[in-house]
Amino acid sequence: MNAYDIIAKKRDGGELRAEEIALFVRGVVEGRVPDYQASAWLMAVYLRGMTDRETLDLTLAMRDSGSRVDLSDLPNGPALDKHSTGGVGDKTTLVVVPMLAAAGVPMLKMSGRGLGFSGGTVDKLESIPGFRTSLTIDEAKAQVRRIGAALIAQSAELAPADKILYALRDVTATVESIPLIASSIMSKKLAAGAGRIVLDVKVGRGAFMKTRERAEELARALIAIGRGAGVPTSAVLTAMDEPLGWAIGNALEVREALDTLANAPQTEPRFRDLCIALAAHGLMAVGKAADHDAGRALAERILTSGAAAEKFAEIVAAQGGPSGGVEAMAAALPVAPLQVVVKAESAGVVAGIDAEAVGRLAMAMGGGRAAKSDPIDPAVGIVLRCKAGASVPPGTELATLHLRAADGARADAFAGTLRAAYSLAPEGQASPPPASPVLAILP
Ligand code: URA
Repeated sequence: MNAYDIIAKKRDGGELRAEEIALFVRGVVEGRVPDYQASAWLMAVYLRGMTDRETLDLTLAMRDSGSRVDLSDLPNGPALDKHSTGGVGDKTTLVVVPMLAAAGVPMLKMSGRGLGFSGGTVDKLESIPGFRTSLTIDEAKAQVRRIGAALIAQSAELAPADKILYALRDVTATVESIPLIASSIMSKKLAAGAGRIVLDVKVGRGAFMKTRERAEELARALIAIGRGAGVPTSAVLTAMDEPLGWAIGNALEVREALDTLANAPQTEPRFRDLCIALAAHGLMAVGKAADHDAGRALAERILTSGAAAEKFAEIVAAQGGPSGGVEAMAAALPVAPLQVVVKAESAGVVAGIDAEAVGRLAMAMGGGRAAKSDPIDPAVGIVLRCKAGASVPPGTELATLHLRAADGARADAFAGTLRAAYSLAPEGQASPPPASPVLAILP
């Protein structure tokens, strides 16, 4: 079989054999399959789909296209990986990783940068002055042995097939395919060597998956791949209709994570709840909690005791950031020179806040990148003051925009965009959102 035959077989609805998929992926990585053939094949997969077995074989071929990290020699059992499918204001890694590490779960977490309207953990971490995300795997493993956790940038050598295929999907309208998304995510996770994987699959306006059905389908595909590859995997479906927490923007999100770790009174309850739920899920996955309720109780104790805050401070100091604890770190974070309060112009109850619109606004303000090479400003972003369910008389502060000095003239336009992202309903006509963003737990 050559590339042409493999494309034609999928185009006609055939089921590809493992050897055919591996041959094709190898051809892509080694440059023998040109972009136009890879693109045609991606479109055939997009239109025809893949069986679970084909999706697993594609994932394994992509996983094996580059280097693989071996974490089997870490102490305290297999490392756990927590992965979110991405959203706006999602800083859960900064809270959940230290929570789990404080509970004795080895955490070597590899993260990515933000692209488009959703942020990336590496950009958030790098807004902490001095923080180094570019540790080698050996350095990161040594740190996990020493203090239980490391937060690093994902190496470009992991799953290079995904890099090539993702770039082609991006320009050939083939991103929104469950087998292609699931194999893309899991090939990198499996190459990164985790022994167990907990997934946070987002659903809603600010997520990749806009409906609960699609998100559930993706979650099940991800779980099936993990299990098929011998790595216990479970998932939580969580709402991403409005931004998560109060802050959107790199240093602002770190500040919010620090507040949450320090149990500050301004902690946003739905964000905190998600951190507890994900940590509980992680504790269950490694056998430290018998069920979700026991996991939640333990996670709650770790967070309120301050142990997670201490662990985060230890990780930050170990990776070159400020030593001296959470307060020293908060004091060192960059602050935008211009802060503009946005007020409501009419009255109502907040029925929703369009997460994607807010994410795009933060990007336009310089906090995110449209292309991989774009620079970002770590200090800029948005701090929301009202979320769904809040009563808003005219003149209420909806949010504060943190802007670059040069953007003063654009402040009114930015404020208009932010106001438009808020949907206000007449009093009594908007139901308050559920107390938790967790929609379902898929064991
Ligand atoms: N994240 C990935 O890594 N790949 C996708 O295809 C979608 C989201």
